[in-house]
Amino acid sequence: MIKPDAVGNNHIGPILAKINEAGFRIVAMKYTRLTPELAGKFYEVHKERGFYNDLVSYMSSGPIVAAVLERENAVESFRKLIGATDPAKAEPGTIRNLFAKSIEANAVHGSDSDDNAAIEGNFFFSQMERF
Ligand code: UDP
Ligand code: MG
Repeated sequence: MIKPDAVGNNHIGPILAKINEAGFRIVAMKYTRLTPELAGKFYEVHKERGFYNDLVSYMSSGPIVAAVLERENAVESFRKLIGATDPAKAEPGTIRNLFAKSIEANAVHGSDSDDNAAIEGNFFFSQMERF
């Protein structure tokens, strides 16, 4: 997912270019906006964390781009491409290092396991929307 800060700052194109250069195939993509209810559901695993309420407001504050990506070893490769959660700690050249504003508004989301990638893909897309 490309998060509201990156969409608002016109970083969709450069981020998608990075994703393409890293060898990912985009198999589904949409520009949309999460309601607070949907953002809360997407980040439900973090419900007990202190940052949850702010995160839900932020994630529903503007449009996002959701995409399903395909590649060998996709989850690990994508996590490497985006860099650490806190952009101040993200490796130079990673998407968060280049485009993120803060630990909350950190430009992109990436799934943390194959199981969660399947759950999160199903959250945004039906079978018919994947190619
Ligand atoms: N987050 C935050 N404050 C924190 C940690 C995380 O606002 O101290 C936000 C941030 O947007 C992050 C998201 O919550 O991307 C989910 O946190 P997670 O630990 O899963 O990081 P990620 O998997 O996105 O690197
Ligand atoms: Mg995570």
